[in-house]
Amino acid sequence: MTLTTEVSTALQRPELRTAIPGPKSLKIHARRQEAVPRGVGCALPVYIEQADGAWITDVDGNRLLDLGSGIGVTTLGHTQPTVVAAAKSQLDRVTHTLFTVTPYENYVRLAERLSAHTPGAHAKKTFFVNSGAEAVENAVKIARAHTGRRVIAALDHAFHGRTNLTMAMNHRAAPYGTGFGPFAPDVQRVPNSYPFRDGLNGEQAAARTIEYLEQRIGVADLAAVIAEPIQGEGGFIVPAPGYLITLQKWASENGVVFIADEIQAGLGRTGTWFASELFGLVPDLVLTAKGIADGLPLAGITGRAAIMDSALPGGLGGTFAGNPVSIAAAHAVFDLLESGAPFAEAARIEEALLNGLGELARKHPEVGDIRGRGAMIAFELTEPGTTTPLAGLATEIAAHAASRGVLLLTAGSYGNVIRFLPSLAVSDENIAFALEVIAEALASRNQA
Ligand SMILES: *Cc1c(COP(=O)(O)O)cnc(C)c1O
Repeated sequence: MTLTTEVSTALQRPELRTAIPGPKSLKIHARRQEAVPRGVGCALPVYIEQADGAWITDVDGNRLLDLGSGIGVTTLGHTQPTVVAAAKSQLDRVTHTLFTVTPYENYVRLAERLSAHTPGAHAKKTFFVNSGAEAVENAVKIARAHTGRRVIAALDHAFHGRTNLTMAMNHRAAPYGTGFGPFAPDVQRVPNSYPFRDGLNGEQAAARTIEYLEQRIGVADLAAVIAEPIQGEGGFIVPAPGYLITLQKWASENGVVFIADEIQAGLGRTGTWFASELFGLVPDLVLTAKGIADGLPLAGITGRAAIMDSALPGGLGGTFAGNPVSIAAAHAVFDLLESGAPFAEAARIEEALLNGLGELARKHPEVGDIRGRGAMIAFELTEPGTTTPLAGLATEIAAHAASRGVLLLTAGSYGNVIRFLPSLAVSDENIAFALEVIAEALASRNQA
């Protein structure tokens, strides 16, 4: 099995026919301003007509290198042929019956597969919803039902979604929460591990987190701790070694449910099935979404059978939850992951990016920290020798990259992180070109 198609491998550099955005995109964008509220943001107003592997083609005929993959969704490449074939074949048979009315086998089989591949050999159960935020909400429901406790602890720099409950769990008020309160009660944020900024080792950072949990919340009321093993929107923050496992151990000793939000980092993205494995974690609940069906909407909640059965029959579900077409696509994703090929690609991408960024950092001291795993790599831009964020520079780099046909995402609580979240179909040549474009942007700043 291969992750790339003939068309996508032939292309090593973007092919631009117009300025970015081109005239047709600009026309549609003007209509959008009238038709769509501004709260629905827009990173790059190029309107997409077709996508393939690591490439997106816009309405002006420009072919752009996509290093964001719809925020880590099309991990196995845009329009991955086996995924598309599975979805098409399912479309011809059944599009919807509602699993809680008249069920279908492919849901049960995907539950079995997720339960088999998430960390830990204990008995597990899985169910499906439509989005990452919905998965987080359901994990909270289950943790509360299981423990009979109220409070949910989330980490600083976390992002968990845009629903009412998940807004209360996010680190950043703007733009995710601004004006949208009142927020859900009994959600507390506690310090995380952020080695570049806090200078703490894993044990020290965990001790600080646990002190907050014990003193500000109290174990008697704490239902769950939720953590992204590698924080996504927060800027691909990799916690110090030992941090997460110490936190998990404390949670299990205190009857607190440990939830791993693997929505961005899971399912092959970091070179393992789940990022939890990188830290030796065996979470009580594991949340998946983004990459699970390579572009179709689906999310999963997997966890210890005894915890998962805490909800009453009918308490979990949703009209579109576990749509059979999304599930068919997810099976094709699992087939590819089980072949092992994606993990090798993630390792290759990690090496190419870390080497290239290391070189960049030697020439440009604004590259203050390089971190991440697999195809989830980022660098943080700071005033040389300090942790003072250079958010403007991240924006400039992303804008320059776009003008050269490379779609790069920014991230981070301070807006000063450039993140690479490419599909695993991206080639070493593609990565080299992207790094060249970033170097151009950094060099022009040094001259200015
Ligand atoms: C994207 C994301 C979510 C929210 O998922 P949606 O599908 O956008 O609701 C939650 N957690 C993490 C870590 C994410 O990256």
